[in-house]
Amino acid sequence: MDLDRRDFLKVSTAACAGLGLSGCVLKKLIESEEAEAPWPPGPESWVASVCQQCPGGCGIQVRVIDGTAVKIDGLPFHPVNRGRLCAVGQAGLQVLYDPDRIKGPMRRMGGRGSSNWQSLSWDEAIRLVAEKLAEIRRRDESHTVAILAGQPRGLMDRLLARFLDAYGSPNYIRNSCDGTAKAVLLTQGIDTLVGYDLEHSNFILSFGYSLVEAGWSPVLAHRIYGYLRQERPGVKAKIVQVEPRLSMTGARSDQWIPITPGTDGALALGLAYVIVREGLYDKRFVEEQTFGFEDWQDGSGASHLGFKSLLLKAYQLEEVSTITGVPVETIIRLAKEFAREKPAVALAERGASMHTNGLYTRMAIHCLNALVGSINVPGGVVLSEEVPLTPWPPVEGDALGLKGRLMPRIDHAGTSRFPIASHVFSQVPRSILRQDPYPINVLFLYYTNPIHSAPDAMGFAKAFEKVPFIVSFSPFMDESAQQADLILPDHTYLERWQDDPVNPMMKYPVLGIRRPVVKPSYDTRNTGDVIIGIAKAIGGKVAAAFAWDDFEGILKDAAKGIFHAGGTLFTAPFEEAQVKSLEERGWRPPRYKSFDEFWDQLVERGGWWDPAYQFVGGRRLFKTVSGKFEFYSQHLRRTLERVAAGKPVSELLRELKVTAREDQAYLPHYEPARFIGEAKDYPFYLNTFKSATYAGSRGASQPHLQEISRLPIGLPWDSWVEINPQAAKGLGIADGDWVWVESPLGKLKTRARLYPGAMPDVVNMPVGQGHKAYGRWAKGRGENPNRILGEERDSLAGFTAWYATRVKLSKA
Ligand code: SF4
Repeated sequence: MDLDRRDFLKVSTAACAGLGLSGCVLKKLIESEEAEAPWPPGPESWVASVCQQCPGGCGIQVRVIDGTAVKIDGLPFHPVNRGRLCAVGQAGLQVLYDPDRIKGPMRRMGGRGSSNWQSLSWDEAIRLVAEKLAEIRRRDESHTVAILAGQPRGLMDRLLARFLDAYGSPNYIRNSCDGTAKAVLLTQGIDTLVGYDLEHSNFILSFGYSLVEAGWSPVLAHRIYGYLRQERPGVKAKIVQVEPRLSMTGARSDQWIPITPGTDGALALGLAYVIVREGLYDKRFVEEQTFGFEDWQDGSGASHLGFKSLLLKAYQLEEVSTITGVPVETIIRLAKEFAREKPAVALAERGASMHTNGLYTRMAIHCLNALVGSINVPGGVVLSEEVPLTPWPPVEGDALGLKGRLMPRIDHAGTSRFPIASHVFSQVPRSILRQDPYPINVLFLYYTNPIHSAPDAMGFAKAFEKVPFIVSFSPFMDESAQQADLILPDHTYLERWQDDPVNPMMKYPVLGIRRPVVKPSYDTRNTGDVIIGIAKAIGGKVAAAFAWDDFEGILKDAAKGIFHAGGTLFTAPFEEAQVKSLEERGWRPPRYKSFDEFWDQLVERGGWWDPAYQFVGGRRLFKTVSGKFEFYSQHLRRTLERVAAGKPVSELLRELKVTAREDQAYLPHYEPARFIGEAKDYPFYLNTFKSATYAGSRGASQPHLQEISRLPIGLPWDSWVEINPQAAKGLGIADGDWVWVESPLGKLKTRARLYPGAMPDVVNMPVGQGHKAYGRWAKGRGENPNRILGEERDSLAGFTAWYATRVKLSKA
């Protein structure tokens, strides 16, 4: 689609006219560019809140005139972004003023997927759901109700889980990206995300972590990069990016190391081999605070393999180089730099771990930090305290609820099928289609659109056909909401109450308060309020689990915990020296006369944080069997022995497609990744990536983000495939040609972009486009590579293997 600026403005204006709203702000904004009259004066304020365009949790302040939000800026004192905001955050008003928002509760009147929708009131909608759920409960089938959630923020996560706990279902299933958490679980005994004290690192080794464009918090990463490069006195940090595609993060690093997809674990172990062989590891940390480095004997006198022996035996550099494609000299140099340039830190994200061998890869990378003693030290891996919210009382539940929640989960997380997993989102379609272990009667969708954004999208579509009743909370008619029977649209993030705790990448707890900056534009409702309403309508012990009137009440109650805990509100810019001084003197929180005064200030300032981080160790850091960092994971061993339930663990490992046996299976090691498609038929790895402008798949509905997506590649409102110039030449493909990208699952047609930052046997496609729904700005533009991805996963931890599909190319 070719839209010049004038066309874009015309279409935008027409869209606003279609709304029939005199106060359509997008229309005002567009017209104001060309109008001669100034903006009419009116009461004006700046309201603090939290961005939700990505998981970064940046603080925002929204300029509101006459009750209308007109501009979003960064919140100056928020510790994540300190007043800065990225383009995606700036575009947030286009979520609020999207002309294609769902404007109130709707029920579908025709067959599944038909567009025959009928409005109903909130009372009717809540009664409808509650009666259905009550009836299922009466049939003793409460476990057949499931909630699929994207990545819910803050207390919404706990609220959804609590609802099913009280109602009686184990099937709260999140689309989680908890690779780091599982590596930390195996080595430190704590199932949590960790942070990285990057501001004090001298060497940052990133395995596929797209820090500056699509990591946990791009603005924070930009701020840290700027500090490391320009502001920090003394040693400038070195940044090395390991990944198959030269990303924006790679381009801003000191070195990009291209690597064969799925082999990051082998490289980490090759680096560890050099560090151990050369005696460069932190001997004191390894001797005093780790377990399983040397060979060891258990209580029965049996000998076990240690990490050191495994490395020296199995990770000779020539072999590592062959596997990874990284030259031996590079591995040696990198290992020496990583060990010597202390403090050094190794981090990984989805690029390294979303393979079939993801868990062992993450474990190997995390072990690099232990080798150089970078656990809980300045510049290393840090373990933030939780935000001290008021704990909730346990769910009492009734007999039906207890029985239902003890039923097996449909995703089989934590069983012999996925022993280390907490959630296995990608298992859901298969389980529903096979009624494994039972049919699903009701499915709730909360901030997830798997028919577009998951591999095996068709599997989800077919599975949805089998579910009698689907409820979506989406504010937009996306591909999955289209298949729902009932839509209970949430507010947008600028219209609702929500907490937003920020843990990843920070070494201290931060709680942003998202508040309504304007009145809701339509008859939408906070999903937290809706869940509470449904629980109360069901009654009995389900209702009793929700003592609060609404989600704002939950939030206010939870905030009493931080009122008593200390810390401070976002009231002043805390620089490093101030924080250090506070830490040394002992942190003394400001005093408030009452909780109500504290609450008012908390909301007005936009949040709370506790900047006093203590580098103390002990059980806080290592909740393992040994009380130490475990290279040899006793947690993994015990878990596998437990779920094997009497059969040999080697048999279980074979079923899990793990090739290692005995001690090696409990140590970080390289498992060859599995791929869909034979290399002879499909010679390219398909590497999908998130761009800085699309915020995953959601940004496609925001025209400003569509428009600025031209910046890196010159193809706005569209998608493309990046091909190495030499590889393209061999196929007779020129820059800008239309090409077919074909996997064993199907094919799609898109434009070729010749890119020297693509490896010769890897092609790269951005995700975010190719919507079949989701409003006028998103629908029918570009292609969605997810639809040709096959369904594969790490069978230990259940991670979706996003990069497990091979493709071939041909000129279209
Ligand atoms: S980094 Fe994420 S949270 Fe921060 S402004 Fe950008 S989109 Fe919003």
